[in-house]
Amino acid sequence: MQRRHLLAAAGAALTLPARALDFALPRAPAAMRISVDRIIDIAVGIRPFRAQGPRIEAERLFSKHIVHHYGHGGSGWSLSWGSAQRALAIIHAQARPGERIAVVGCGAIGLTTARTAQQAGFKVRLYAKDRPPHVHSSAATGLWTPDSRIVTSEHASPAWQADWVAMARASFKVHQSYLGLPSGPVEWHDGYLLADDGFDAPVPGHVGEPDYPHLHADLRPHGKALAAGEHPFHAAHARRFTQLVFNIPAYQRLLLDDFARDGGELVQREFRQPRDLARLPERLVVNCTGDGARTLMADASLTPVRGQTARLIPQPEVDYAVIYRGQNVVALPRRDGLLIAAMGEHDFGNADLRPDRAHSEAAVRRLAALF
Ligand SMILES: Cc1cc2nc3c(=O)[nH]c(=O)nc-3n(C[C@H](O)[C@H](O)[C@H](O)COP(=O)(O)OP(=O)(O)OC[C@H]3O[C@@H](n4cnc5c(N)ncnc54)[C@H](O)[C@@H]3O)c2cc1C
Repeated sequence: MQRRHLLAAAGAALTLPARALDFALPRAPAAMRISVDRIIDIAVGIRPFRAQGPRIEAERLFSKHIVHHYGHGGSGWSLSWGSAQRALAIIHAQARPGERIAVVGCGAIGLTTARTAQQAGFKVRLYAKDRPPHVHSSAATGLWTPDSRIVTSEHASPAWQADWVAMARASFKVHQSYLGLPSGPVEWHDGYLLADDGFDAPVPGHVGEPDYPHLHADLRPHGKALAAGEHPFHAAHARRFTQLVFNIPAYQRLLLDDFARDGGELVQREFRQPRDLARLPERLVVNCTGDGARTLMADASLTPVRGQTARLIPQPEVDYAVIYRGQNVVALPRRDGLLIAAMGEHDFGNADLRPDRAHSEAAVRRLAALF
């Protein structure tokens, strides 16, 4: 009897102070292990940028209904679902649920368009030259960035911006329905915005980029300025934020699995000219070819914007992101690795898919200086 009391008392002694400590002292975040010998992969992708924003419109071509759905710049993952709902409204005007439609492209936009159409009752056949992980979407960082290279200031009229806010909000809502799943396609993580010279100092420019507008959908917590001693980084200025993160490989796999489970078919095929689309058996074709539309449709409104990401060996104990402002480097705690992204000086108008290892190594070294 006495022994049982003793054990109970010991149990209380062991658990209570530990809980009390949790409240008193915020846990120091686990240090990222940052070194170039931990790089396990480097990926290069192209952002399909259009100054006027994504092209979401129907065209009658060789007796087919073509619904164009491409040109999402650096925002394709973030805006995908809201944009797919726009495309669906156009599909509805031309075809009836139950009919089989074709979706060309298996990146973020093609996959989410296919799923959105399936959920609305359409049968869908996906055609694509490449599939994940060999699409540009697979190289993405995986942050909620609905305002990244999505339009130029010149084209961001109040009406355009109102449309964009509606699209971002609709997309955000669908992303939340992918939280809490075993493979973790979508997660929320805290992060630290760090700077050496304050947050108002201009970020170094990049060659040839147009002027982008400040767009706000007000869909994330505002964050908090941290005093020295409230964070462990070697940086003069810090803010803590909370952000939506996409684990891209898990997200792509889940979308492909759900697509197949709902009877979707995936056909590997390359289309070389618009007339090739007309040869498809489906009456309606949704063109989600991203930067591929630049050649397929000879669309000069598309500008390729190169991007490169590197992955370091995964560190499951790291649960925060870092954006090192001014030093042009982002680190994300993705499940498939610590994802390191850095913009290149000559990305705009650049479609070079060759990896530049020195660029990623330099980004890793800039990040390492923080720890
Ligand atoms: C480095 C980098 C980081 C990024 N980070 C983010 C981020 O953090 N958050 C975010 O929201 N967005 C991000 N983006 C942007 C986002 O990845 C893009 O907007 C998105 O990939 C566009 O998707 P897509 O489906 O239109 O294009 P793609 O992924 O290029 O897919 C196009 C599909 O069409 C097929 N196709 C093309 N041409 C043909 C043809 N002629 N015949 C047959 N099939 C064809 C391709 O094979 C492919 O399947 C990033 C992009 C890059 C490159």
